[in-house]
Amino acid sequence: MTTQRVTHWIGGADRDHPAERTAEVYDPATGQVTARVDLASASDIDSAVAAASRAFPGWRDTSLSRRTAVLFAFRQLLAERADELAEAITAEHGKVLDDAAGEVRRGLDVVDFACGLGHLLKGEFTENASGGVDVYSLKQPLGVVSVISPFNFPVMVPLWFVPLAIACGNTVVLKPSEKDPSASVLLARLLAEAGLPDGVCNVVHGDSVAVDALLEHPDVAAVSFVGSTPVARHVYETGTRHGKRVQALGGAKNHMVVLPDADLDLAADAAVNAGFGSAGERCMAVSALVAVEPIGDELVGRIAERMAELRTGDGRRGCDMGPLVTRAHRDRVSSYVDAGIAEGASLVADGRTVRPDGNGAGFWLGPTLFDHVTPQMSVYTDEIFGPVLSVLRAPSYEAAVELVNSNPYGNGTAIFTNDGRAARRYRNEVEVGMVGINVPIPVPVAYYSFGGWKASLFGDTHAYGTDGVRFYTRTKAVTSRWPDPGDAGIDLGFPRNG
Ligand code: NAD
Repeated sequence: MTTQRVTHWIGGADRDHPAERTAEVYDPATGQVTARVDLASASDIDSAVAAASRAFPGWRDTSLSRRTAVLFAFRQLLAERADELAEAITAEHGKVLDDAAGEVRRGLDVVDFACGLGHLLKGEFTENASGGVDVYSLKQPLGVVSVISPFNFPVMVPLWFVPLAIACGNTVVLKPSEKDPSASVLLARLLAEAGLPDGVCNVVHGDSVAVDALLEHPDVAAVSFVGSTPVARHVYETGTRHGKRVQALGGAKNHMVVLPDADLDLAADAAVNAGFGSAGERCMAVSALVAVEPIGDELVGRIAERMAELRTGDGRRGCDMGPLVTRAHRDRVSSYVDAGIAEGASLVADGRTVRPDGNGAGFWLGPTLFDHVTPQMSVYTDEIFGPVLSVLRAPSYEAAVELVNSNPYGNGTAIFTNDGRAARRYRNEVEVGMVGINVPIPVPVAYYSFGGWKASLFGDTHAYGTDGVRFYTRTKAVTSRWPDPGDAGIDLGFPRNG
């Protein structure tokens, strides 16, 4: 098999001179190296930021109708090339093709939203705020913004940010995960094909060297980051220390609470879908199921029945669940299964014994279910980010809410019930940024905004939707009057409204 080279995309072209450092990119379903990706040095970052800075004045002054036309063309290309993008995702991430296609679709929704930029960028106008004085506000772009994304959504997460950033008139340096870098370059090429001027969207690959260079670069105005909580905290602290606007979305431990009156078949389906979809490598995956007694035994039984039917294997073969992203990650997740057993949780289904429909060298771990997990066990305290679902038992609704609210993360949560009053109460009381009522993965639609609370987000604004527009613009308030020359005169007093 030939090994591809994945290079940076700067100023509308591949940066093809040799890289000082590279990393291997794997097909997780075969365990084979399929590409080598260049890892940016500080000087590569300088080049990308310089290209974005050069492109900024022209793009900022490009008419809104022209910007909209580029985004519409991009939207069309994304729709036409959705299969190609999904294949690129599956080849490097491992998630099954259908799931990858769903990711592209959810990214496309944000492009739809960004196409409404003419409406989104309207300012306010007050006529005659004072005698003959008009006051109005403008939303202006920030300059060069950086987007740093995780491995688990190589298309959707860049599309949470890049379309809105450029819609608002900014230029972008995107730093995708080095584990599955190819899809980002494909996105940048599609933007170029759609008519985006060179330098408006650049892609640099790399690791912490690239990220730190972006965080410290004086010409980067803002950073949108998505990844694990320790790195999100580092990005927020370092970026803000260097005077940047930062939104840093972190990790998660999402709880699904099932009340005794819930439909247990619907709840079991939802737990399996949200626990094991994308092999649990979703920031909105359900990893902790809280069964409010007395339904625990019945619910666990129904979940186990469904898990027995799941097919784990190569994402191109119509399986339900693919491999994990790297061998190291699979080993780490697998070590949590060992730890759960050692700590006394009941192992109901053991993914370590899975027989995958795929190459034996792939990074496999099957769906795993633990029951009788307690809040002290590491399978509960840590974000595992794999196909391991932990069931905790709560004696009451109040105990369930207290458990969820005691967790340091606050990304997503779901409640399953037929009791509308209980659902309303949960919606009010739970300290989590995104709540599903009988919806297990409540990722908000593109015209709302995505973001968690507590250790799941550092910063003030959530991603995409109107929060995204707020993040990528700054407001200028203009006070204007066209006085009659006859009104001239000296008055050193502070201006008052009249
Ligand atoms: P990660 O934190 O390892 O990496 C994220 C990005 O940061 C990558 O681009 C990576 O190259 C870079 N990076 C890694 N280590 C770094 C370091 N020490 N210094 C500077 N940069 C560094 O995350 P991941 O493993 O790619 O993704 C999975 C994590 O992302 C999970 O914790 C998941 O919950 C989280 N996630 C959160 C959301 C959300 O919306 N809250 C969405 C998707 C993923």
